[in-house]
Amino acid sequence: MIPAISDYYDTETFDRIKAFADTQETPCLVVDTATVGDQYDELTGVFPYARIFYAVKANPAPEIISLLRDRGSNFDIASIYELDRVLELGVSPERISYGNTIKKSRDIRYFYEKGVRDFATDSEADLRNIAQAAPGARIYVRILSEGSATADWPLSRKFGCQTDMAMDLIMMARDLGLDPYGISFHVGSQQRDIGTWDAAIAKVKVIFERLQEEEGIKLRMINMGGGFPAHYLSRTNDLATYAGEITRFLEEDFGDDMPEIILEPGRSLIANAGVLVSEVVLISRKSRTGLHRWVYIDVGKFSGLIETLGEAIKFPVYSDRKGELEGVVLAGPTCDSADIMYEDFKYPLPLNLAIGDRLYWFSTGAYTTSYSAIEFNGFPPLKTYHI
Ligand SMILES: *Cc1c(COP(=O)(O)O)cnc(C)c1O
Repeated sequence: MIPAISDYYDTETFDRIKAFADTQETPCLVVDTATVGDQYDELTGVFPYARIFYAVKANPAPEIISLLRDRGSNFDIASIYELDRVLELGVSPERISYGNTIKKSRDIRYFYEKGVRDFATDSEADLRNIAQAAPGARIYVRILSEGSATADWPLSRKFGCQTDMAMDLIMMARDLGLDPYGISFHVGSQQRDIGTWDAAIAKVKVIFERLQEEEGIKLRMINMGGGFPAHYLSRTNDLATYAGEITRFLEEDFGDDMPEIILEPGRSLIANAGVLVSEVVLISRKSRTGLHRWVYIDVGKFSGLIETLGEAIKFPVYSDRKGELEGVVLAGPTCDSADIMYEDFKYPLPLNLAIGDRLYWFSTGAYTTSYSAIEFNGFPPLKTYHI
């Protein structure tokens, strides 16, 4: 089925995006900034007790950072470059955390000198660097979480440590004169199983209790990361359902002694605000009797659609054409055979699709522009317009 516009955008919003796109060359990403504001308000509405740290890597456009700054958001930053961008836009350093567990000592120092005091860690070497380069900083330790089977874009293994190591790091933070602040986790991006938060929160509770009982350390914060869903082809529960369940897990485990709660949304805030507009360059078959047509378009893995890697994220692709559908292979324009978005999954597109037609990739506001190559095969980076 061709996705219904109304499942993804209200008609007025889509008309506005499309009318603007009609005046532009493809490929381009059109981001409706009002939608980002709405998503932010929805999130703070269903999680009234949480502080929001927008994960800037999802889309670092100044328009988006400024909008979220004015809405009161804080920012989760992964590099000195993101830091400079956010500071230049007038965000004060108390609203910034350094959430990357992989960092150079001199970058820690840079953050510290700019006034940032909240640092994530998951290893002894990094913690020792923080103690030296950012004395007295607030430390939260990231634990591993097991959500990779049900997350469409897992963030497992590379980040986080086991519970025993997390406790050691918190104790070491205290001994190094740092402020042992809390525990963080990320259940995996586009996480479809809300139960993964339950398991992660239960782990955090054990860490909180044992450190309190055995060491007299009272942790004060849980950073529950991102993972909240955007609307792609496979549907998920809505955000209110996530919030209801997660709030219940927290209340069951922490009751009246609720720590400070931080969320780091990226995808869920931004994805639905964007439409990537592309054009069909070529349609072909590989043999006279070839069963599947290949549809090549002017945007691909290297120009914004990297999350189709492993066919992980299935974006809704919309065409104006009506009528019978046929599963096709959908590929990008570059001379690299990795530049195929969907091949195992035969994407259903209209049989009467023609060269020159436009295809609209819904829910592409997050993890597209910032991933786009700067000149592979000479193709320029993906253009973005904020309307
Ligand atoms: C990428 C990232 C996020 C954002 O995750 P989403 O699933 O896009 O919401 C949050 N926290 C950290 C530490 C991240 O690296």
